[in-house]
Amino acid sequence: MSEMLRESPYPMVSVDEALRLIMSRAAPLDVEEVDALTADGRVLAEGIRSPEAVPDAPRAAMDGYALRAADGLAERRVVAELTAGVTPDLLIGPGMAARIMTGTPVPAGADAMIPVEFTEEHAGALRVLRAVQPGDHVHTVGQDIAPGAPVLEPGTVLGAPEVGLLAALGLTRVRVYRRPRVGVLSTGDEIVEPGTVRPAGGVRDSNRYALLAAAREAGCETRSLGIARDDPAVQRQAILQGLEHTDVLITSGGASMGARDLIKGILTEIGAIHFGRVAFKPGKPTTFATVGDKLIFGLPGYPVSSLVSFEVFVRPALRALQGDARPMRPRVRVTLAGPVRPAPDRPEYQRVVVRWADGRLLATTTGAQGSSRLLSLRGANGLILVPPGDREHPAGAELEALLTGPLM
Ligand code: AMP
Ligand code: MG
Repeated sequence: MSEMLRESPYPMVSVDEALRLIMSRAAPLDVEEVDALTADGRVLAEGIRSPEAVPDAPRAAMDGYALRAADGLAERRVVAELTAGVTPDLLIGPGMAARIMTGTPVPAGADAMIPVEFTEEHAGALRVLRAVQPGDHVHTVGQDIAPGAPVLEPGTVLGAPEVGLLAALGLTRVRVYRRPRVGVLSTGDEIVEPGTVRPAGGVRDSNRYALLAAAREAGCETRSLGIARDDPAVQRQAILQGLEHTDVLITSGGASMGARDLIKGILTEIGAIHFGRVAFKPGKPTTFATVGDKLIFGLPGYPVSSLVSFEVFVRPALRALQGDARPMRPRVRVTLAGPVRPAPDRPEYQRVVVRWADGRLLATTTGAQGSSRLLSLRGANGLILVPPGDREHPAGAELEALLTGPLM
């Protein structure tokens, strides 16, 4: 019969200290080469310099006529029509002009172009209605990107513009960090698979599916490790097996001080616990351990606690493991739309909807902040950091917030 300890033997660490302990162990994983044209979502492991000048030849910036600026307002003879994709084998001499389309290389001899709206053309004779200066409406060689110029830093998350840039430069392979493999294990005798009949007193496993989704959103490959009942041998075996296939293992439940809370004991046996208690609400029992170079997060069982703890402690590690140069969520100052009551003893991360209103970021609470009330996370795009205290923060007060999703 296991005993129930009255007080946790683990020292209480601050959120910052907990993050320091985690991030110092979350070095980027290995590097792999992938198809650059579908590499959106991946993080660059190399710096990219442009192999060439963009554009590589002077190009017409508009539809019009290529000509010589020195000819002034004199009428020109139109000697050719040039379209994109054709390299003109042509010399524009004095008094000559070539009809030219946007993006087409400007022929030799021409040093400017005039947009079609400032011209009149009759039977091959071109009237120019205004004088042009050398270089007008011509994209010069390397104007957009000089050859050898750095265009992407290592640690950059590739999105649509970056994929476009790599394609534009003809770079079809890139070196990126491997995605972390993350396993998620639920614990608890009362926890049942959502698709099965729920016995009285049974609790559907929402944590595992929410955490798997959160890990995917954070750019990871995921593996569901099922539900382990509250038996030390079963949970230990599930964790050891899970570790064989993963870089990061997340458990939920069994992390606090009850007789059925076995996670900390198991992690002490198989690895090293770096912290077992955080001054943080919701999620004080959040535990971080390593086994070799694998990271294990023992998250609390309450659905809100596990997801908020994931957001605050696990997600930055998952981003750092895949080399993201900016693994943390942006931190902003928000104005409270309504009063907010702090927890007396610990900083609390309350769920809010942040939107831009009246020239500031306005944070509206998602309602009751209980640890079991998943509805407090629905639609939330921010976590306000409410310092401990006994005085309510009135509407209009400012607090810091983590932006966890796009602004509403
Ligand atoms: P524990 O920390 O194991 O005592 O769990 C705290 C609370 O969270 C209990 O009410 C559990 O039933 C609930 N809980 C634990 N694991 C899960 C899970 N995977 N999905 C939903 N609720 C859970
Ligand atoms: Mg439990």
